[in-house]
Formats: sequence, structure tokens, C-alpha cells
Amino acid sequence: MKLTLGLVALFLGFAQLTLGQTKDRTSVVSEGETARAFSTNTYAVLGATSQQEALVRSQIQTMQPAVLPLRVVFVPHWKYVDNTRVFHLHVPTGYTSALFTHLPSRTVFIDADRYFDESLGYWLAHELGHLVTNSADEHEADKAAREFRRRLERLAQQGPTSKQLGGSE
Ligand SMILES: [Zn+2]
Repeated sequence: MKLTLGLVALFLGFAQLTLGQTKDRTSVVSEGETARAFSTNTYAVLGATSQQEALVRSQIQTMQPAVLPLRVVFVPHWKYVDNTRVFHLHVPTGYTSALFTHLPSRTVFIDADRYFDESLGYWLAHELGHLVTNSADEHEADKAAREFRRRLERLAQQGPTSKQLGGSE
């Protein structure tokens, strides 16, 4: 009994220490980056319903990319197809053609008619991968996307809170 309490105290002390260190490291080393990553309202979400906008913002906040998009634009399907043609952009057909990123303007386009709720985060991670690597290379984007997807999964595993972020119905 005494031993158990001792271990618990030890564990709590350790957890506190670890948390403290994490906090210090964050605020000292990457202050600018953290500030940027957390100011998720600095980009525009256009053409979205309030539910879509809330989902996109919560997912991007969870993924904490070092580089944020300047705008995320939901466009009707016909216009989306037109945009991809006009911009001559890579549409990642191997993945999905419902999202694409225009790097020079840091704009992520989402086909509003092919909107796919929870799985949006998975594809959004790929587009953020293009942004943070500033590269049109699919492999580079996917590599960067892995960490974003991990962060999304971690949040989903925490349970109930992910429901309110996902904004189900
Ligand atoms: Zn891509």
C-alpha cells in the first residue's frame, strides 16, 4: 500500500516535471512557430457552411502545421473542375480529386460537392503537406502529412471531444 502510494506520487511528480519541460521548450525554442500555428483564425475559409468551416478550422488546429494556408475555399463541383483547369494544377488523382492546393497563393480548394466529413482531415493533411514543404511533389507532401495524420488520430482516440469537433450531423 505504502509502496503503491509512493509510486503514484513518483509518477505524478514525473508527469509534472515532463509537462513543465515540454512547456518551457516550446515557449523558448519555437515561440514564433507556436504562435503562428495556434492563430488558426488568420486564414479565411470561404464558401463553406458554418459546420464545414468549424470542421476545417478544428482539424487544422489539431494538425498544427508550421505553415498555414492563406485561405481554404469550398467551391461547387463545376467551378472546382474549372479552377483545376485554369490553374493547371496537380490534382492528386491517385489520392482524390476533391482537394488541391495552389502553392503560390497558399490556397487550398475543396470540392464542396464531394465533401466527406471526418475523412476530410486525412486529405487536408496531404494538402498541408504541400504547404509546409512548399513542394508540388506528392511524395514529399505525403511524408509531411504523416505527422498531421498522427495528430488527428491522437485526438480521435481521446474520445468524446472528437465528436464535438467533428460536428457529426
Ligand atoms: Zn498532392
